[in-house]
Amino acid sequence: MSSLKSNFLDIDIDKILSVPLSTFSHDDKIIWHHETTGIYTVKSGYILASKFADQEAPSVSSLSTQLWKHFWKLNIPSKVRIFLWKAVQECLPVAAILQQRHIAASAICSLCRSNNESIVHALFLCKRAKKVWRGSSFLLDRIIHESSTFKDIFFKASETWPQQELEQFACILWSIWTERNKEYHGTKPKPHEVLLVSALSYLGEFQASRQASPTNLRNEVHRNNEPTRFLVAQSSSDGQVVAAMSKPHPGCFKPEVMEALALRYSLQWLQSMNLPIHYIETDSLLVVKGLQARSLNVSDFHSVLHDISILMSNFPGVQISHVFRSANTFAHILAKYALSVDKECVWMEEIPPPLMTIVL
Ligand SMILES: [Zn+2]
Repeated sequence: MSSLKSNFLDIDIDKILSVPLSTFSHDDKIIWHHETTGIYTVKSGYILASKFADQEAPSVSSLSTQLWKHFWKLNIPSKVRIFLWKAVQECLPVAAILQQRHIAASAICSLCRSNNESIVHALFLCKRAKKVWRGSSFLLDRIIHESSTFKDIFFKASETWPQQELEQFACILWSIWTERNKEYHGTKPKPHEVLLVSALSYLGEFQASRQASPTNLRNEVHRNNEPTRFLVAQSSSDGQVVAAMSKPHPGCFKPEVMEALALRYSLQWLQSMNLPIHYIETDSLLVVKGLQARSLNVSDFHSVLHDISILMSNFPGVQISHVFRSANTFAHILAKYALSVDKECVWMEEIPPPLMTIVL
C-alpha cells in the first residue's frame, strides 16, 4: 500500500485495488477488460473506439460538464461560489439583463455611462474593473476578445489556468462586483490596488481556516476513500451460528466480482480455521452459474471463480446453491455491520452482536 501511495494518485490506487488477483499461482493472461467474458469482440472494440472519438471532439454537453467540474472543485467561500454561479447562469442584476426583462428603462452602465452594462462589461470592461485587472497578474485581453459571454470567459479561464489561479480569479471578480454595488449605493469604493489585495487575502484566510480544521479534512479523506466494499462470511450448522466474520475490503468492484471475492475470502478463512462445511448459500446467481458452467472465460470475475473452485475442492462434497436475498438476512446484516467497522470481526460459537436483534 505504501508503494502504491508513493507512486500513484488516489484515484488510480482505487482502480489498482479493484483488480482482483488470484491467490494461486497462474501464468499471466491478457484480458479484454471491456467484455464480461474477458474475450475481445469487434462490437466492444467498436464501442470503445467510438468513446475515444467522442473524447477527442468534446460535445457541447461534455464541455459544460467540464466547466461544472472545475466550478465545484474550487476551494472558495460559498458566497463567492454563489456569485460565480449566478454570473455563469447570466443571473446577475446588470442593466442590460434588467432592461431585457423590462425591469430597467436603460441598459447603459450608470457608473461609466459609456456602454451597456452586461455582466462582461461590469466585471471586466467598466472603468474600475479594468484598473483592477491591469494591476493583477491575469492576462485577460485574449480571453475576453474571444468570448461573448461570462460563461465563455470562465470556461476559457478554467481551461487555461490552474485551480489556484482560478480561485483567485473568482475572488477578484466577487470583490469587483461587491464594490460596484457599494458605488451604486453611494458608498466610496476601495481603491483598485486595495481591492486586489483584500480579495486575495480574503481567499487566503478562507483556505487557511479550512486547512486548520482536522474535522473537515478527515471527512474529505473518508469521502475520497469511497467506494469501499465490504466482505462478509458466515458459517452455520443446524441453525446454530458456529462462526461468523465481517470484514471491510478496500477497492471498488462490480457486484458479481464483490460476491465472488467475499466467497473466496470466506473459504480461505474457513480453511484456516479448520471449519468443515457442507453447503454454501449465496444470493449471487452469477457466482453460482459461473461456478457450475466451468467456462474458459478469462475475465477478472472468472479468475476469482477459478480460485473458488480450487478452494472448494478442499471441502469434500460441498455444494453451492443460490438463495434469494431475503433468505440471506444474516449475511446482509453482517455485511452492513462491516460498513461501521474498520477491521475484521470474528465471532465463534456465539451469536454475533449485530445479529442479536433478529435472532432473539
Ligand atoms: Zn461601465
